[in-house]
Amino acid sequence: MSEQVSNMFDTILVLDFGSQYSHLITRRLREFNVYAEMLPCTQKISELGWKPTGVILSGGPYSVYEEGAPHVDRAIFDLNVPILGICYGLQELAWIDGKHVGRGEKREYGPSTLNVIDKENPLFKDVDHSTVWMSHGDKLHGLPKDYVTVATSDNSPYCGIAHKTLPVYGIQFHPEVTHSTHGKTLLKNFAVNICRAKQNWTMENFVDTEIQRIRKLVGPTAEVIGAVSGGVDSTVASKLMKEAIGDRFHAILVDNGVLRLNEAENVKKTLVDGLGINLTVVDASDEFLDKLKGVTDPEKKRKIIGNTFIHVFEREAAKIKPKDGKEIEFLLQGTLYPDVIESISFKGPSQTIKTHHNVGGLLEDMKLKLIEPLRELFKDEVRHLGELLGIPHDLVWRHPFPGPGIAIRVLGEVTREQVEIARKADHIYITEIRKAGLYNKISQAFAALLPVKSVGVMGDQRTYEQVIALRAIETTDFMTADWYPFEHDFLKRVALRIVNEVDGVARVTYDITSKPPATVEWE
Ligand code: GLN
Repeated sequence: MSEQVSNMFDTILVLDFGSQYSHLITRRLREFNVYAEMLPCTQKISELGWKPTGVILSGGPYSVYEEGAPHVDRAIFDLNVPILGICYGLQELAWIDGKHVGRGEKREYGPSTLNVIDKENPLFKDVDHSTVWMSHGDKLHGLPKDYVTVATSDNSPYCGIAHKTLPVYGIQFHPEVTHSTHGKTLLKNFAVNICRAKQNWTMENFVDTEIQRIRKLVGPTAEVIGAVSGGVDSTVASKLMKEAIGDRFHAILVDNGVLRLNEAENVKKTLVDGLGINLTVVDASDEFLDKLKGVTDPEKKRKIIGNTFIHVFEREAAKIKPKDGKEIEFLLQGTLYPDVIESISFKGPSQTIKTHHNVGGLLEDMKLKLIEPLRELFKDEVRHLGELLGIPHDLVWRHPFPGPGIAIRVLGEVTREQVEIARKADHIYITEIRKAGLYNKISQAFAALLPVKSVGVMGDQRTYEQVIALRAIETTDFMTADWYPFEHDFLKRVALRIVNEVDGVARVTYDITSKPPATVEWE
């Protein structure tokens, strides 16, 4: 257990009661360089394996007085560290010490103004009269035993409470959402001033501790394999492995025939020549495209690509013979923190980590142990880490690309010819986006090939060719997204280039549907 990140940095434990905002608490703390980890509210403190510097109880959709409502392990009070309850967390504190919680006369959702009564209270330093975000239907009907009121709002007489002698606090509002204008200050007051957590969570520090951790985990001789895709996560994870264990890490890029234009070559150049990673590129495009012949159903395409990937990867991995004469022992996976959070939600059946279905299969078949150096990090932290590790800027800020690749951007049957058309169109589109300086303003952009024929005229000749649909979206979380409002001239330029330069395309359209009701990808 000692090699856990939470043992290497002062760590605030966020116990999640299921609020949609819970992960933001962790985010905010890390923004001012305090490390925080979120675990389900049912976490037994005796099974933690590390000592938190402070504990935050999140909001949640339940009512504390309901039968079956989740409750915190009382052992948090024996840790002798500061505790902050947020919304449900506040109600939980009040429930434990007097049960003064019930339904409010009216639900309170939206902004309210904070009125600090105890101006000396360290939690509320510099936050008086600020706007705070409310989202609750229950409220405190009285103070729990040994607590005092330290802040109020119009509708919440117990908007902020504090224990008389212990560093235990509760607040009715959500400081983690940006609508609470001084929420971050309040969280900082708690973590830095009250918990005295060190503000040393930086990627500079993380690199060093992570490299040590990987070395310890892998040991002096064992070897590791991992798939790379050309995306930021697998590249950062690979570079970290390279730094930790050198050539005992083997990266494999499977060219599945549905990668972007010149992708395999480009990845090779960047990873091998640029980053010194021990990489094998496997051209399995015929194998994938053969299996995709005649298949039009998107789900089937995904399954075929996933299964063929496992097959090819296993075959290639078997060719790698570790120097110690033993078998490869570990499989690298670029799991990020949001996946971890999602999979440990206390509503789920257990704390098993969700593995990508490809990886799940590999672990079983090959008896590999999983190594996940990014599992504590949010996406922007991974990008920061990537820059620190010297990964080229364009790769670090690359748009996401789906596993089944261009196969789900060629609607209908996937053939080499169709992939070629989609690829070329996509390349022109992305090149123009970069030239216009828009790449980083857009969250994801690509061209999809629609297998419908449309009439056109070129050089006095009637043409009858297919349609390219361009998509570009802006989003912060990919849960909802809006289409990007390009200038007319930009669209005109891209359409002209695609029809002129890509054989087989007679028409270009721009997708102006948001998500929902549409999805980002077309299949
Ligand atoms: N479910 C509780 C309420 O309605 C807590 C809400 C929350 O934590 N956001 O008051």
